[in-house]
Amino acid sequence: MTPVRTRFAPSPTGRIHLGNLRIAVFNHLFTRHHGGAFVLRIEDTDAGRTRPGALEQILDDLRWAGIEWDEGPDIGGPYGPYRQSEREALHRTAAERLLAEGRAYRCDCSDERIEVARSDPDFQGPGCPGGCRDQRKEVGTIRFAVPDDEVEIVDAIRGEVRFHGRDVGDFVLLRADGRPTYNLAVVVDDIAMEITHVIRGAGHLSNTPKHHLLFEALGAVPPVFAHLPTVLGDDRKKLSKRADSASVGELRDRGFHPDGVVNYLSLLGWSPGDDREVLTREELIESLTLERVGASDTVFDPEKLLWCSEQHIQQMPVDELVEALRPHLPEGISDTRLPLLVDALRTRLRTFDDIRDAIELIDPPATVLAEGWGEIRREGAEGIVHEIREELAALEAFEAEEIGQCIRKRGKEIGARGPGLFHPVRLALMGTRSGPDMGKVMAALGREKVLARLTGPSDPP
Ligand code: GLU
Repeated sequence: MTPVRTRFAPSPTGRIHLGNLRIAVFNHLFTRHHGGAFVLRIEDTDAGRTRPGALEQILDDLRWAGIEWDEGPDIGGPYGPYRQSEREALHRTAAERLLAEGRAYRCDCSDERIEVARSDPDFQGPGCPGGCRDQRKEVGTIRFAVPDDEVEIVDAIRGEVRFHGRDVGDFVLLRADGRPTYNLAVVVDDIAMEITHVIRGAGHLSNTPKHHLLFEALGAVPPVFAHLPTVLGDDRKKLSKRADSASVGELRDRGFHPDGVVNYLSLLGWSPGDDREVLTREELIESLTLERVGASDTVFDPEKLLWCSEQHIQQMPVDELVEALRPHLPEGISDTRLPLLVDALRTRLRTFDDIRDAIELIDPPATVLAEGWGEIRREGAEGIVHEIREELAALEAFEAEEIGQCIRKRGKEIGARGPGLFHPVRLALMGTRSGPDMGKVMAALGREKVLARLTGPSDPP
């Protein structure tokens, strides 16, 4: 069996968005599942649309998502991606070969003339309106002569898809100035790179008959095509067409767990066939096959994306979580306190960046703490808070478990329990009535801070 070879072929026109990353994710997981090779090819033939810095960002975003590619020019260390712009000579040779073999022809019809002709229902055949096919012209674009016949493709997701040559129409391979088109470059490169599976968005389905015909004309076996279902936004518009669709860089800055993002994207059109929704990367690799990809459109759900990120964060071992949180921490958090803080606050994290709000919750501004004490006084609960303070001052091991037990024990002695006990203490500690586990929060804040807060402000507001 030929080893599986796939490619991800982004254009460096800007930051990749979630829709692009999803294509990379499916290709990558599928390839790993089969132990094949995953190729990264930058489609940068349109110099006018290439944005400086975009290539570096694409590479950064892919690395962040844990999508590494297997080959490419050796740039001293990791592989560089293939760049389509460096392969133009190959593309041109292929076009000239097709021209010499009579599978393509020179054409000087303007785009406009072709468009007008094709919109006329009486226009016959795939050829150009100028009849250039038979005229052996010397100049002009090189156009592929599409057979006036059916083109049948078996898509791994959609099954048989039929097109007619008349609807496909003769298409340009090489522009008049000698630049190869996307359709030519993609096929020549897929052949050279021995790509076995082309997994891409459904938007490319209409290009596929052209690609299929080119593969055959160039004497190559067409790859397996698999067109993933379209992702729609909640307004039912295509996600890829929406200006506000999140870029991968944005999610990264906001501290989404990359495995959560990859996991969520894999569920857009695929499911493992059981009730699992949270899957590790290894589990995804093990279970992702094209048979389980559906053909119908799927809807992007930003809440579920957050949820997936949260699930993956909750599964992290503390030491890994501490490291992942580091770039998102406010100034002045000491290394020794960090694991305790993480232990106290991890249940509140949907993204790594949520750590900021969580820290602010247990370390609120003085005004919030003063308001908390205002409520305690109105309820006449100062006594309870001071009793607890006394007990905690004498506690030997100032650790989460012991702190919790100590609060309950003293509460029982003074006849306070449940909200009657915990609300006043929490109000004094954080200025709120609810929040993360109090023993853990106290352990994270440290005895000194806790005792000061349970003492309350010296002059009541
Ligand atoms: N450069 C194309 C894109 O970004 C890839 C086309 C393909 O996969 O064939 O959509």
